[in-house]
Amino acid sequence: MKDNKGIQGWIRDLIEHPVKRKRDERSVLDETNSCPSCHRRLTAHELEATLYTCPHCEHHFRLTAWERIRITADEGVFQELSADIETANPLEFPDYEEKLEAAARKTGITEAVVTGLCKVDGHEVVLAVMDFRFIGGSMGSVVGEKIMRAMLVAAEKKLPMIVFTSSGGARMQEGILSLMQMAKTAVATQALEKARCPYFVVLTDPTTAGVLASFAMLGDVTLAEPGALMRFAGARVVAGTIREKVPENFPLSQYHMERGFIDLVVPRQEMKKRLSFFLKTHAPAQGGRG
Ligand SMILES: [Zn+2]
Repeated sequence: MKDNKGIQGWIRDLIEHPVKRKRDERSVLDETNSCPSCHRRLTAHELEATLYTCPHCEHHFRLTAWERIRITADEGVFQELSADIETANPLEFPDYEEKLEAAARKTGITEAVVTGLCKVDGHEVVLAVMDFRFIGGSMGSVVGEKIMRAMLVAAEKKLPMIVFTSSGGARMQEGILSLMQMAKTAVATQALEKARCPYFVVLTDPTTAGVLASFAMLGDVTLAEPGALMRFAGARVVAGTIREKVPENFPLSQYHMERGFIDLVVPRQEMKKRLSFFLKTHAPAQGGRG
């Protein structure tokens, strides 16, 4: 951090002076008019009515961050946090600035995660939503920082934290600094635990590598969308390591639910209702022994 206000100071700033920026709510529909799974043509009307799931085969389309926020947060209450942190090129990786600019132009967001304060079915929460379109949802220093700050805001305000993950893993262009975000975000989850704030993770397609191996696997309750790919390494690498054939559905959310890695696979149309239930039953302890 460039300023010397200390953690309490910038948490207060985040809460009291959230950055207001015009939202560029680009849609998955801009790029799609047929189902990548069953290949049927779909209309925008059909997809909007099913929250971007295929009415024929239930394929769940990947959502943009703002679409996810729109279908998750109560209307008109989302207050973005940390929108002004800019990504640098600390290792002077060739063409990284151009890649960031191209990603921002394509997606209308400035990094692979959007965080903010909002309400879900009337419950106040801190929400973080990753966007795979931005350099594969990869976690560089700013993604790690935004997620950490969101968790600290939740801990400070004694609010539940919800993260929707979607990521190819670490940001290659930031090398070791990117890998350090795994430790940073994992440690930030302890602030939630200390403040007795429940932490909910929703794994969406795909969640892999450094993100899966850090804050994505540390939720108190871990949900996933049907068919979401989640793995640390590819099937061939795993098969080569353990010298056994791995089942075809090995990287998918249902497989991991059957083995206890995740608690529940929840179809998108039921997600808000389920989150609301968990928020109600896991309300943060307010003082006392909780
Ligand atoms: Zn389909």
